Amino acid sequence: LPDEFIQAQPIIDTIEAAGYEAYYVGGSVRDTLLGLPIHDVDIATSAYPEEVKALFKRTVDTGIEHGTVMILDHGQGYETTTFRTESGYQDYRRPDSVQFVRSLKEDLNRRDFTINALALKTDGTIIDYFDGLNDLKAKRIKAVGNPETRFNEDALRMMRAVRFASQLDFTIDPETIDGITHHGQLLTKIAVERIHVEFVKLLLGQWPSRGLDVFLSTGLYQYCPDFADYEAPLIELAKQLKVGMSNETAVWALLATTFKLNTNQVASLLKHWKSANQMITDTQVVVRAIQAITTNQVNAWCLYQTGRERLAIANEVATALSLSEITTKELQARYDQLPIQSKRALSISGQDLMQAGVQPGPGLGRGLTYLEHQVVNGLLTNQTEVLIKAAIHYLNEEA
Ligand code: ATP
Ligand code: MG
Repeated sequence: LPDEFIQAQPIIDTIEAAGYEAYYVGGSVRDTLLGLPIHDVDIATSAYPEEVKALFKRTVDTGIEHGTVMILDHGQGYETTTFRTESGYQDYRRPDSVQFVRSLKEDLNRRDFTINALALKTDGTIIDYFDGLNDLKAKRIKAVGNPETRFNEDALRMMRAVRFASQLDFTIDPETIDGITHHGQLLTKIAVERIHVEFVKLLLGQWPSRGLDVFLSTGLYQYCPDFADYEAPLIELAKQLKVGMSNETAVWALLATTFKLNTNQVASLLKHWKSANQMITDTQVVVRAIQAITTNQVNAWCLYQTGRERLAIANEVATALSLSEITTKELQARYDQLPIQSKRALSISGQDLMQAGVQPGPGLGRGLTYLEHQVVNGLLTNQTEVLIKAAIHYLNEEA
């Protein structure tokens, strides 16, 4: 067993010593069997939340109403969730209520896919009620039980199916695909923020075309914000894209470039997807840099405005779309050679200009922007004397 499980073993031992059952469950079990690194160890137990809390000194109620208690141990936190069933998914999302149960099988039965419905004991034994091991071997994503019912209960599962396909290089079982095709529209009942999380994970996955193909062929994409308008470019993208993106800004810049969006359209798309303002700004800057890279028009001002990190993102996207003929290393080397990398590096401040007799006000700001531009472009040396003179001259000309 991987170290993460070994470290968590005392937790399971403590719960078992008190007469309850406890198992490793969820993504960490699946990923271990696939030989992938694991992020967080999830534990499922027959003990009720209050019973779990009574067994450990330090716990946090991270989701006590659905049975989740975080146990703190040696600087680590372990999410421990009481076996439960769910019922009354009246609005096609999240259950109205959960019932705690003492049976592992019932708990695994409410999980989304067979590969996510495996449990692992501390001695390495796997509990597999739904043929998940077989599906893991066959690299197949298959709903637990009837896919139609399961997507009716919680429509987000359809997005999870396509993102797991992309992350794991798995196919989706034909009946599960049919379920997605028939229930795609239910996605409109799900909070955009939750769809957003899964969609970004899809494009961060190593095999994005795997997920995108089903996302498109089932029509699921039509029920995501704004995507119905972009079927053709999405199909083109699914054909072309061979690698996953390395961060979320790259994901949105990839889409914006594929959809040929201008700056305002980028903001509009991302607002519909409920992105943060910083993400919108970053994406706009990156999209502009991609255009410059594509047309071989990366000049000093573009390098300066984009910044080192976003240059890497822009070139990652441009390269994924076969639009770049330059390496990120080269671009960043050019960036590193700029006379200044930020306004702060300018050898002059507003204060200095005022001391030299420039009146406070909008002219002062314009003077500074002018200097920034001239220095970045190598037209003025970054020396206080030089800059003061040039600013005064510029402002006189302007007047
Ligand atoms: P990841 O590696 O991305 O964390 P994961 O499988 O662990 O993948 P989580 O969202 O962390 O995914 O959920 C943990 C487990 O909870 C899943 O493996 C699955 O068994 C169950 N689960 C999560 N979301 C759902 C859902 N919407 N419907 C049914 N079961 C779910
Ligand atoms: Mg997880």
